[in-house]
Amino acid sequence: MLETDLVIVQIDESAMLNGQEVCDRLKKDNPNLGMPWFVFTDANKNVLADATGPNGNVGCPMMPEERDWFIDGVRKSRVNLSDAQIDELKLLLHKYAIEVIGDEAGALPTTTAPPLEATTTDLLIQYGADRSALQRTWNIPFSSINHQRHIDFENRWLAWVEIAQQRDYPRNGQIDLALLHNHILSHIAELQLTRAKQKDVGEHLWPVLILNALLEAKAKREFTTPEKAARILNGAASNIDRLIDEVDFDAVDAVRSQRIYRVLGSSKRLLDAWFDFGMDYDPLFSWWCEQPYNTLVEKVDDYRELFAADEDEIIGDPIGEAALLQQLGYAMIPYSPDDLVAIAEREFAWCETEKNKVIAELGARNWTGALRMAKAVHVAPGEQPAMIKELHDESVSFLRERDLLTIPDLADEVWRMQMMSPERQKVSPYFTGGEVISISYPTDGMTHEEKMKSMLGNNRHFSRATVHHELIPGHHLQGYMAKRWNTQRSMFYTPFYVEGWALYWELLLWDLNFPQNALDKVGMLFWRSHRCARIIFSLNFHLGNWAPQQCVDFLVERVGHERLNAEAEVRRSVQGGYGPLYQAAYMLGGLQLRALSKKLVGGRQMSLKQFHDSVLKQGPIPIAAVRANLDESVKISTMANWEFND
Ligand SMILES: [Zn+2]
Repeated sequence: MLETDLVIVQIDESAMLNGQEVCDRLKKDNPNLGMPWFVFTDANKNVLADATGPNGNVGCPMMPEERDWFIDGVRKSRVNLSDAQIDELKLLLHKYAIEVIGDEAGALPTTTAPPLEATTTDLLIQYGADRSALQRTWNIPFSSINHQRHIDFENRWLAWVEIAQQRDYPRNGQIDLALLHNHILSHIAELQLTRAKQKDVGEHLWPVLILNALLEAKAKREFTTPEKAARILNGAASNIDRLIDEVDFDAVDAVRSQRIYRVLGSSKRLLDAWFDFGMDYDPLFSWWCEQPYNTLVEKVDDYRELFAADEDEIIGDPIGEAALLQQLGYAMIPYSPDDLVAIAEREFAWCETEKNKVIAELGARNWTGALRMAKAVHVAPGEQPAMIKELHDESVSFLRERDLLTIPDLADEVWRMQMMSPERQKVSPYFTGGEVISISYPTDGMTHEEKMKSMLGNNRHFSRATVHHELIPGHHLQGYMAKRWNTQRSMFYTPFYVEGWALYWELLLWDLNFPQNALDKVGMLFWRSHRCARIIFSLNFHLGNWAPQQCVDFLVERVGHERLNAEAEVRRSVQGGYGPLYQAAYMLGGLQLRALSKKLVGGRQMSLKQFHDSVLKQGPIPIAAVRANLDESVKISTMANWEFND
């Protein structure tokens, strides 16, 4: 933050040429003061403040009066820093001092605490609103000012949450604060990971980074003169020429190329907006900037093309074991990736046993034969919506007859159907749901192969196994309830809850004999083994063990996917903006909920219906936090350590 105003120069008195001399001159009044020592000067080297306080050197300001002396120096020398920023600096220094010298640093001032009248719900909503406002303002990739602003923001809120946690809020509020604390830490980790990945390709992007000065100024509502802007644009363009000559493009691997390609894309979009802001509205801007801008845009496009990937190639960006462990921690899953793969293999083995029973029942030769029999049972073109409705009615009747959960009439009234576009069907071969179920089925413009693939994939038995996943009790009912209960928790969205809930029902419905015949079982087992496979391939991918192509082969061989669908699945998983744990979250979240049900319902603390109704009211939070909400005996501070896989 200090860089906003100051040029920071470090002088080492012993290691630097003339270091001692310069230090002595600066410390003219008292050369015997120890190190470290600091001095603030203006641009003309006039001393504005220094580290020589009333009681000696405060070069390392830790005690309250030492910190005040330092902050006073910042105040005297500031040009741009706002009062709020100085307050923030003061708070950060205070927190650091607490870390270093403990209680002696003094308690955090109450003026920096969140308002006393705020409920925990207010605090969650305020954090969410603050963060998205900041993100709308500071969204410049690769900018260190941008990065620091977000880090400072998260740290400030972290301090607030820690203060609020000392207050006497009710238990569910305390859980919310613990979730917020966890959530902020996950954002800090994410910021650092993004920063590290960006730095890793920095050498190929520096000419474009020069342009960030323009975007940063705009974010701060500062005005760059058109002449200066033109100079920056022109400089960047000639630097790109140099890079094109110098870079050995063959040495940049596919993962890095993709990263560079994406950053250049978003930088360009931001620059376009920056340009449109001045162009035509400011005559001098047009005069100076139009020409260099057009030249630059062409060069950025040419340069970006050099990093473009082959369209058919699947390229992901594995996050590695350390980041994976960190993310598991934030999801409150106390297991290593290896443990989780072992759980997946155990569930897979269960599927294999059941598959063999079904193969025998059907008289099929093998699993592929059984799948072929199920795929053959599909409706004629045009009839899929009627079938989806029929399957939905069937599963809702099943739930109601057994009184498994509350289904509000309105929830059942308002879900709707639409047909999925042929373009989207290419990456999303099966229907998707929520309040609107988007139906994947052939259109007359598709090739014969595409039509057949779509009809076979969306056969009755595969669909019967997942209509409830998408509608009721799955995503639609879940979304319906999440908009009505604990809405402040929506920002904690986690697939362990969202996909875990839908998957939990796949497990439970099997146990309740939902499948009516062997082909229904084929459908359910196809999906269930697919969920196990998702854990195995996605974790191995992010650990760096498997390349995307190995993941595709695995899905074809172990689950029985058609190759094109397996490719679409892997592409979506590693390239499509899903978090690294998304694919693993289905089965793991489902197993967590099953374990929780076993404990609470099995232990007669509540009925199965009460359990389901209560889970739906919690909002999309880690299942370990759902558990803490439903079971008062769980300690909030250690709720994340729940070992559900006993
Ligand atoms: Zn789902």
